[in-house]
Amino acid sequence: ALSSLFREKKRRRLEELTEKFMLVDGGSAHACEWDGRWNHIKKFLERPGPFTHPDFEPSTETIKFLLETCKILVIGAGGLGCELLKDLALSGFRNIHVVDMDTIDVSNLNRQFLFRPKDVGRPKADVAADFINFRVPGCCVVPYPFHTIKSQCFEFHIIVCGLDSIVARRWMNGMLLSLLEYEDGVLDPTSIIPLIDGGTEGFKGNARVIYPGMSACIDCTLEFYPPQINFPMCTIASMPRLPEHCVEYVRILQWPKEMPFGDGVVLDGDDPRHVQWVYQRSVERAAEFSITGVTYRLTQGVIKRIIPAVAGFDKYYACLPLSNYMVFNDVDGLYTYSFEAERKENCSACSQIPLDLHFSPSSKLQEVLDYLTESVSLQMKSPAITATVEGRNKTLYLQSVASIEQRTRPNLSKTLKELGLTDRHELAVADVTTPQTMLFRLCFTS
Ligand SMILES: [Zn+2]
Repeated sequence: ALSSLFREKKRRRLEELTEKFMLVDGGSAHACEWDGRWNHIKKFLERPGPFTHPDFEPSTETIKFLLETCKILVIGAGGLGCELLKDLALSGFRNIHVVDMDTIDVSNLNRQFLFRPKDVGRPKADVAADFINFRVPGCCVVPYPFHTIKSQCFEFHIIVCGLDSIVARRWMNGMLLSLLEYEDGVLDPTSIIPLIDGGTEGFKGNARVIYPGMSACIDCTLEFYPPQINFPMCTIASMPRLPEHCVEYVRILQWPKEMPFGDGVVLDGDDPRHVQWVYQRSVERAAEFSITGVTYRLTQGVIKRIIPAVAGFDKYYACLPLSNYMVFNDVDGLYTYSFEAERKENCSACSQIPLDLHFSPSSKLQEVLDYLTESVSLQMKSPAITATVEGRNKTLYLQSVASIEQRTRPNLSKTLKELGLTDRHELAVADVTTPQTMLFRLCFTS
């Protein structure tokens, strides 16, 4: 009897709401308010509490700021992005922009709850925006399904990242650092756009708050990420030591040779049959070399280049901000803790200190290239190196354009001296991990 009473109450409430929305014209932000709609948020914003920031003044203005002014950018509309969009919309953020260039795959549907079977093949950003806009009255999500919004980043109050790629994260980090303004070496705080970054992998996750130029940035803590995902071919082929080496062997060598799902079928990390096949072969390979630790999850991780991505985030600036790195692990029981990631004094991205490269004049350019990609603190992907030699700007090596790669490849086996480089020579390096060109100073060792 009680439950039918509740049902009846719920039905009446729904009717009331429906009636209200019928009166709304065009879904304007003010027309679709109802009594108590934001009570859950007001509890945070209109009264102090044990966790409020010392500078926080409870006021009715803050909710107005959220509803009317705050412009927030969400990067990624996948597993984490769906959660983020839902949480933000229900928390009163109304001017939300979402970037995702991916389209919906049937394997996404188990967790990316803004998508339905009919949406398969459509851009994630579009469908996610439509869903939220339909479901949360007054909320306006603007999708960017085809391009990043490089030039508009400065317009946002906060940026939230739910990405699965380190490179994309580092790029965003670099973008926000490039927007900082310094006056006589002092950072102008109004040029800071906070970045909330999160990641998930299976039952593990992390969330962190970054104030570019003030707190540890992504590159300050690059050592946290798995340093090398591209293993040398000789290791993979003949001297595997790690479970990852075995998975790479199957992925790179066995898959193209055996074509288990037909000619030309590309290995898909989201297809359980594919992952299972690679997993089985990897276990066999590991057994041959007495290597343990190959699991299904690890296999999928290696195939998809999964980077631990976001677990939720520090929601209200009314509260003390997360300081500043939170980890969450739900693999065996539940474990979570937070700590303060420290800024790295000579961080290549945020320190504004030019980095020195120590090489002998007889070192080859290849060695410099290897250093840029293999150094744990740089981890570049395909660095392009240029320098001014005899008054002319010269591309020493560039990988991303085939014709230039071919033309500059012979330089790799030349020594720095042969290339006309001298002690204290400045090298400009561009890479996909940052939107800015990085300057290095060559320091000759004898
Ligand atoms: Zn940094």
